Amino acid sequence: MSDCIFCKIAAKEIPSTRVYEDDMVVAFHDLEPQAPVHVLVIPKKHVESLVALRQEDRELAAHILIDVIPKIANDLGIAEEGFRTVANTGDNGGQTVKHLHFHVLGGRFMKWPPG
Ligand code: 5GP
Ligand code: ZN
Repeated sequence: MSDCIFCKIAAKEIPSTRVYEDDMVVAFHDLEPQAPVHVLVIPKKHVESLVALRQEDRELAAHILIDVIPKIANDLGIAEEGFRTVANTGDNGGQTVKHLHFHVLGGRFMKWPPG
């Protein structure tokens, strides 16, 4: 989508600090980190949110959850102590960028519940 910030990051039209990339996914450091490690994992294709995923996206969704997030957590050294994965969805979910993304936060204790 032409006016989507995360599509532009995926296309390298906007710079980001990448920690992982493959043919389906990009992961990069959040501009305003909320924890010592705060990475965003996005599909390269524009999907608006979790509720916009379709049957044809099964492989993509499984890849992100099974392969990519655990690998990034291991690579960034937060897997053992634990981390939080969040997908804010829609307005009440606090989603500000309307391109599906998974926050991966670690390096400190995460309180629950969020505000
Ligand atoms: P949301 O509130 O939609 O769940 O999360 C959007 C996240 O994207 C926020 O944590 C925000 O800091 C991050 N963000 C917004 N614009 C940019 C950008 O241009 N570059 C990077 N690296 N992160 C961004
Ligand atoms: Zn997009």
